[in-house]
Parts: sequence; C-alpha cells; structure tokens
Amino acid sequence: MSDYNIAVLAGDGIGPEVMVEAKKVLAAVSKKFDISFQLNDFDVGGLAIDNHGKALPAATLKGCEDSSAILFGSIGGPKWDSLPLEERPERAALLALREHFDLFSNLRPAKIYPGLEAFSPLRADISASGFDVLVVRELTSGIYFGQPKGLEGEGEEQFAYDTMRYSKREIRRIAISAFNAAQKRGKKVTSVDKANVLVCSRLWREVVEEVAKDYPEVELEHIYIDNATMQLIRNPSQFDVMLCSNLFGDIISDECAMITGSMGLLPSASINQDNFGMYEPAGGSAPDIAGKGIANPIAQILSASMLLRFSLNETAAADAIDAAVVKTLGDSILTGDLLGPDERHLAKSTSEVGDYIAA
Ligand code: ATP
Ligand code: MG
Repeated sequence: MSDYNIAVLAGDGIGPEVMVEAKKVLAAVSKKFDISFQLNDFDVGGLAIDNHGKALPAATLKGCEDSSAILFGSIGGPKWDSLPLEERPERAALLALREHFDLFSNLRPAKIYPGLEAFSPLRADISASGFDVLVVRELTSGIYFGQPKGLEGEGEEQFAYDTMRYSKREIRRIAISAFNAAQKRGKKVTSVDKANVLVCSRLWREVVEEVAKDYPEVELEHIYIDNATMQLIRNPSQFDVMLCSNLFGDIISDECAMITGSMGLLPSASINQDNFGMYEPAGGSAPDIAGKGIANPIAQILSASMLLRFSLNETAAADAIDAAVVKTLGDSILTGDLLGPDERHLAKSTSEVGDYIAA
C-alpha cells in the first residue's frame, strides 16, 4: 500500500470550502485504490497573514518540503488588497512557492464537457468540433523574471524596461514537458512564439525543433502569438498541446479558460524537474461568492486528480476522479455557475456536488 504526505494549503475565500470536497474525493479514492494519504493542513495567504504575520510562514514552507506534493486552494481577497505589493498573498506566497520549488512547468488543461457547450462564448463552433486543450506554460523565467529591469532617465526621456531572457536549458525542459504531455494526448504540439521579431523566440524555436526530434510520433507546428489568439477564436479545436513562454502562456491560458466559459471547472499544475508539484484551481478566491456554499468544487477536485497523475503516478485513481466528474456533469449535478439564469433553482450546493463525485 502506497503512503503519501500531501501538504494542503486551502487559503482564503472559497479555498477552504472547495478543499473540503477535494479531501472527500481523495478519501474515496484512498479506499477504492488502497492508497493512503496523510493530508496535512497549513496556513497560507491572507489567513496566514492574520494568524502569523506573513503569507508564507516558515512552518508552511517546511510542511511543503516534507510532502510529496502540495494541494493549494486560493489566496487573497479585499481584506489584504491594500498591503504593499511585496507582502500581498499572491506575491509573498504563490510566487514564493513557485520560485522555491522551481515549479517551471505550468499545465493548464481547458476543455468543454459534453452538455456545457452553451457556456462557451463560441457556442456554435464548439458544439460541432469540441475544445480540449492543454496549455504548457513556462513559469519561472522569461520577461517576468529577467534582470535587469527598471527605470532610467528623467522627464519625457524617462524609460522603463523589462528584460526577456531564456536559456536553452530553460526552453528545453519546458518543451520536454509539452512533448511528454502530447504523447499521452492528441500527439500534437503547437509552439507559440514571435520568432519574426524576438531573439528569444528564435532560440525558443531552435530548441523546440531539437526536442521534437526525440518525439517522431508527435506533430510539431509553430505559430506566432498574434495568430494564436486569433486561431483560438476562429477554430479552437485545431489545438491539442500549446507550448508557451511565461508571457505568452499567461495570455493564452486565460483565453482558453474563457473559451470554456466556466472558471469553476479548470484545474492547474505547476511541476518541477522531480515531478514535485503544486496543484490549484485556475480561478481565484472568488470573494463575491465565498462563505455561501455555492462555489463549484470541481476545479479543486480536478487539481487533486492532476496531483495523483503527475506527482504520485497514481493513474488509475486520477482516471477514476476524471470519470466521476464527467458523470456528475452528465447527470446534471451542477452548481449555479453552470446553470442559466432561469435554471438557478436547480443548483446543487458545493457539498452536494462533492458528495456525488466522491460517491
Ligand atoms: P484572482 O486575482 O485571484 O484570479 P479574480 O478577480 O480573477 O481573482 P476569481 O476569483 O478568479 O477572480 O473569480 C472570477 C469570477 O469567477 C468570480 O465572479 C467568481 O465568483 C467566479 N468563480 C471563480 N471560481 C469559481 C468557482 N469555483 N465556482 C463558481 N464561480 C467561480
Ligand atoms: Mg484571475
């Protein structure tokens, strides 16, 4: 029987509510597949600022270091918005964790489930051809991390600069993540760049081509970022895995999320070289609906499934969770975010949806 330590960082807003449901589902797969989890709770984000004076206390970081993976909820909210940028939960906890564990590979699957096509702003096209994309975004380098950055000069001649930089090593490892993922999916990688303008993108393309040679069964195509945003609207079903740098992946993953039309369904993974990872919903702490028991727990539950799949290699258990989610949606056990305005009376609560998936 396998035994795993998982650090559970539920955080703020709807985080704690949806985390309860993810734990229920982990308990269910633990029983069915004979996997034992030690789920250890730690404070993070605004909650940790209130309880310990900082968003990522040393005990939380230590707890994460001693675990096989991190299941993360969401952090932040209006209460902590006025703090200086460096102390804000997002920066002081989320970015700090990504950096500390070198979580360079950000995987964001976005798909439209059968029956939920009406939520997509692209409804007509989607119902004909479907939408099921994995965005693989480089998360710890590129223009968001490049040095130097700053301000120089004065008056109207003052200028600001950020430096975009990528090493071959950084490009290679994220490209390998994308090709590995594509091998298990639709066998196609679309690499997003701006190689007609940027030197970084030229190097990106060169290294991606090299990596592709090791994956003869995976088709590789290159696309410019501007065309990619357009093609996603025009014909979204042409894509399988989209391989992106930090900046372009930020943009593309939000666009893909919006094409599905429902934030509450989308999980994400941020993984390092040793398959250690942090798993969290793509959405935020949703302060507008927190505390009401109406948040959709599926993004958190699918994040737990990704944790099983990528960090623990418990594929059967992950498949079972994914199948249970498909069945739950198919059986119309839906929270309010997945119902039209005149169907809201049919909405199930956060815990009813969690119970159904666990069952
Ligand atoms: P952040 O900066 O943390 O990403 P945000 O301002 O982008 O926050 P989110 O928390 O992502 O906001 O929420 C955006 C919208 O999506 C809100 O209206 C929120 O209620 C809704 N939403 C997000 N997650 C869920 C969920 N799990 N269930 C239902 N609605 C959700
Ligand atoms: Mg957001």
